Amino acid sequence: MANGIWAVGELADGRPTRVTLELATLARTLAEQTGRDAATVLIGAGATDAAAQVAAYGPDVLAVEAAQVMEQPVASVVAPRLAAMVADREPDYLLVAASTDGKDLAGLLLGLLELPILANGSSVAWDGDGPTVEMSTFGGRLVTHSSFTQPRGVLLVRPASVVAQEAATPGRVGSVQVEVSAELPPVRVTDRVDEERGGTPIEEARVIVAGGRGVGGPDGFRQVEELAQALGGAVGATRAAVDAGWVGYAQQIGQTGKVVKPALYIAAGISGAIQHKVGVQTAGTIVAINKDPDAPIAEFADLVVVGDLFEILPRLTEAIRARRGNGQTPA
Ligand SMILES: Cc1cc2nc3c(=O)[nH]c(=O)nc-3n(C[C@H](O)[C@H](O)[C@H](O)COP(=O)(O)OP(=O)(O)OC[C@H]3O[C@@H](n4cnc5c(N)ncnc54)[C@H](O)[C@@H]3O)c2cc1C
Repeated sequence: MANGIWAVGELADGRPTRVTLELATLARTLAEQTGRDAATVLIGAGATDAAAQVAAYGPDVLAVEAAQVMEQPVASVVAPRLAAMVADREPDYLLVAASTDGKDLAGLLLGLLELPILANGSSVAWDGDGPTVEMSTFGGRLVTHSSFTQPRGVLLVRPASVVAQEAATPGRVGSVQVEVSAELPPVRVTDRVDEERGGTPIEEARVIVAGGRGVGGPDGFRQVEELAQALGGAVGATRAAVDAGWVGYAQQIGQTGKVVKPALYIAAGISGAIQHKVGVQTAGTIVAINKDPDAPIAEFADLVVVGDLFEILPRLTEAIRARRGNGQTPA
């Protein structure tokens, strides 16, 4: 497939991740705008079964079954197979998720294919002859737009930069056998530690209740957790709260944490520093609970409740539980 745009999918327990569906949507949209072909490449155990779900988002799916042994990082399985496919079919642009595995993969691909990269894109548009990538730099103080100086390259796209949307016509699924002449030099994972998570992963939650330094400690976070639980949502946090050890890194939102896109974001005791804002600015509705009416979060929140979170959170939780008890939906 010449002149194509490929979305590089990710699998988790044999299922496509949300960012895979987002990248498939982006590949389809860019291909439609430019008259190119689009494909999503899925490499890993269960790729064939996952392919039908991904094909609903438009591009054809190239499914490559590949077993991964426990000690092997995902990128070392995907990179040599993808590099062989790229060398054979010569797509112009590869869309790779700016996730932990995606960044790992992009690094290996650059070494194997000697392609240029635009990293950490928060949005991708087509400008003239090629893609333009918007990036947030200098701690979110500056937004840049960059493009390639040659007609091929790898784009690392941040999760939640695109809304995944099924296509009117699904793509076709093809099973591909890839011969890898040489596996990469062995890299061994010596230990695996499960991320500590507070229930629903924040990347997928429709409601997030997040706490910051104003929560004051792990005990204060229990009130955040209780409200999240009452709303059926997930718990998020600022870097200040994570660095203090009150909650795990998996919950951190922002420039050095995760980018989230819930329908409702409730920020308790969070000032709204730019590095936090970049992780949550595309949320549907942002509600801030802060005792300082002039906190920076007031500039981008839809609603600011000025007051002490230790008074407001328990009352809100109680009110929502009461509504639930009456068989009403909380929001
Ligand atoms: C390179 C870099 C990367 C960074 N990455 C991230 C990132 O990914 N995510 C992130 O979050 N930060 C990040 N930061 C840190 C960021 O700059 C801020 O320091 C951090 O977000 C502040 O966290 P906070 O809002 O919890 O704390 P603070 O800024 O201290 O704000 C606490 C807020 O709580 C309010 N408050 C206090 N008590 C109460 C109460 N009882 N009731 C109601 N309100 C109360 C205060 O009025 C205040 O507004 C990064 C910084 C750098 C330099």
